[in-house]
Amino acid sequence: MKCPFCGYLDSKVIESRATEEMTAVRRRRECLSCGQRFTTYERIEEHPILVIKKDGSREAFSRNKILTGILKACEKRPTPLDVLEQLTFDIERQIRQTGRGEVTSKEIGEMVMERLKDIDDVAYVRFASVYRDFRDVDGFKEEVERILAEKDRKQE
Ligand SMILES: [Zn+2]
Repeated sequence: MKCPFCGYLDSKVIESRATEEMTAVRRRRECLSCGQRFTTYERIEEHPILVIKKDGSREAFSRNKILTGILKACEKRPTPLDVLEQLTFDIERQIRQTGRGEVTSKEIGEMVMERLKDIDDVAYVRFASVYRDFRDVDGFKEEVERILAEKDRKQE
């Protein structure tokens, strides 16, 4: 780790800790030549997460894939992209925190819905209609009515 002050290549680590997002390690270093202190961030080697799909096959977890699905549901909606990106980061973090290496696509769908509900209910309904297996039209109608009732309650 090169010293940003004098360019010397050796430094000692004074302090290490994981960042809040658990995606990097923050290290305080001290240059062995000039004695200046600086901070580095090193990405944590991430274990791959496998997603078990409906047909039982597995594929690597992809935040982008989730985002694509959400964007489709949010078409022509005013929700900013960074809010949706943050949502996918939250989901990945939640999965990693469980310590499990595998998660079902259904579980991911539920996690997305849970969050989307608070962000944009139109997008939520669109997303839910694709990812939740509504057995019939009535099941879907019930869900929409439940959301609307919940929304009314919040506004009161
Ligand atoms: Zn230095």
